[in-house]
Amino acid sequence: MQVIQILRVKGREVVTLMSDATLSEATRLLARKRIGALMVKDRNGALAGILSERDVVRALAAESVSALARPVSAYMTRDVATCTELDTVEELMEMMTQGRFRHVPVLDGNDQLCGLVSIGDVVKTHIEETTREAASLRQYIAAAG
Ligand code: AMP
Repeated sequence: MQVIQILRVKGREVVTLMSDATLSEATRLLARKRIGALMVKDRNGALAGILSERDVVRALAAESVSALARPVSAYMTRDVATCTELDTVEELMEMMTQGRFRHVPVLDGNDQLCGLVSIGDVVKTHIEETTREAASLRQYIAAAG
């Protein structure tokens, strides 16, 4: 199964905010959208980083509430691992396991954001695939017997 098939089901909405937005604005957006990570863009609209709820927790632990007034650029991860629509779910699982993160933005042929895959999407797809495989194996065994 490829990333493009996950996006067909979940849609292509990616929640973004500007790198000069405050951490406080980021927490409100995360809460309102009920998501775990935001893609951060620079003034030219290019992907500048990713800010996940884990970064918010780290910032609050290190700097307490004063972190909330600072820009997300101070806390985001700048070196973002991305994928394309043609990557497979297995490749994403490997990437998330190796990198110890749960979100991977999807870039199109022009390096533009065109979706986001979370570990929840990957696990859901994997379970569906495994269930389908098990059903067809059962059918095959029943037919052979
Ligand atoms: P997460 O597990 O996605 O909540 O993120 C854990 C940490 O990894 C946070 O510091 C994120 O900023 C960072 N992170 C999340 N996704 C990525 C990614 N695709 N590439 C690089 N770092 C990431």
